[in-house]
Amino acid sequence: MTDHQNPAARICPDCDGFASVAVTLGGRNRLGFLNTITAHCKRCEGTGTLPPLRTLVDAAATAAFAGGAK
Ligand SMILES: [Zn+2]
Repeated sequence: MTDHQNPAARICPDCDGFASVAVTLGGRNRLGFLNTITAHCKRCEGTGTLPPLRTLVDAAATAAFAGGAK
């Protein structure tokens, strides 16, 4: 039995998974809709999730052992 599971992605702590919002700029366009822009969370870049911690630990360990401490 294979038991390989991809680790769950973490919900972004900065936006709690609500990665994109519409911000009203004031006023309405010719069709009567509010003028809005879409803003994305800077940390997760609009995905709402971050890589699993294991990915970060692996990258840090690789950098530490490959580059060595100076
Ligand atoms: Zn985010």
